[in-house]
Amino acid sequence: MFKGILIEKDDAGYRATLSDIDEAQLPEGDVTVNVQYSTLNYKDGLAITGKGPVVRKFPLVPGIDLVGTVESSSHEGIAAGDAVVLNGWGVGEGHWGGLAQKAKLKGEWLVPLPSAFTPKQAMAIGTAGYTAMLCVLALERHGVTPDKGEILVTGANGGVGSVAVALLAKLGYTVVASTGRPQEADYLKSLGAAEIIDRAQFSAAGRPLAKERWAGAVDTVGSHTLANVCASTRYRGVVTACGLAQGMDFPATVAPFILRGVTLAGVDSVMCPRVDRLEAWARLARDLDVSKLDLITHEIALSDAIPAAAELLEGKIRGRVVVDVN
Ligand code: NDP
Repeated sequence: MFKGILIEKDDAGYRATLSDIDEAQLPEGDVTVNVQYSTLNYKDGLAITGKGPVVRKFPLVPGIDLVGTVESSSHEGIAAGDAVVLNGWGVGEGHWGGLAQKAKLKGEWLVPLPSAFTPKQAMAIGTAGYTAMLCVLALERHGVTPDKGEILVTGANGGVGSVAVALLAKLGYTVVASTGRPQEADYLKSLGAAEIIDRAQFSAAGRPLAKERWAGAVDTVGSHTLANVCASTRYRGVVTACGLAQGMDFPATVAPFILRGVTLAGVDSVMCPRVDRLEAWARLARDLDVSKLDLITHEIALSDAIPAAAELLEGKIRGRVVVDVN
């Protein structure tokens, strides 16, 4: 038996509980992992509270991220004792995830824990941080270099936003952080933000084109925010879109794309090919100042994960949450 969060849905309703789980209940997989840490991402918040249709089968252990040590493996190239990291691949959505002391997974989903990080640091990064890196890589791929101008990060106090601010600042970009929590300005400045702006200026319907300001953007918010960010992006600027904290909709016009040559680059972490994941983790090892991770992260116990999930969705949590499952 091991401890884990179990999400069930039946006549009694949708509920998440801290449960004792029988190892025989674990799903199919060629690698069994003793989990050390998991995390809470926005998607985990949706899964645990049931506020979004994330969970595709019941019962299910949530947790889209985990780090741990391989207990047993029949997967070529992965052996007992290996330290491994998992992000995404539908784990915590359709396959049992990381918010438990044990997981059974497909070996092809796992990446080695980079030597630059402790297990806890890898989860402080988690899907949020690895997605932030994918956004930075997308900006680079489209030619956005630090000399091109200011980079806007929306949802800056969130997990993706916090890591994006830290990464971009370390790489020499001038970062403008958009937030609904101006009281966290000192935190965002300590991560490297040059300026803090109120997210309210992006929240409502705006004009098709606004004054040009951003050379690039990392948008974690979607909806009117993404539309207004595109409208205020400079000629040939690049907006990376990875989130929907304001909404799934995109009430925009094509004006920024056809009149200013703006590029909208979509970023997905879940099904991202392994080669790109390895590149993102290698770049995190090189470009993320790990001392900033302590500022970004706080740790909770598995028993606290259910109330913390609700707080995350209410926008009350700053940065990243690491869950010690043991
Ligand atoms: P967090 O909850 O940690 O951060 C979200 C942040 O968005 C909040 O902290 C808040 O920042 C801001 N926000 C919340 N509500 C609103 C609103 N109504 N209007 C404007 N801003 C708002 O989530 P994560 O950082 O983990 O994830 C951010 C987004 O990215 C989520 O939508 C998530 O689903 C998505 N995501 C997508 C991935 C992908 O593969 N494409 C991978 C990982 C995440 P502040 O207080 O600073 O305003």
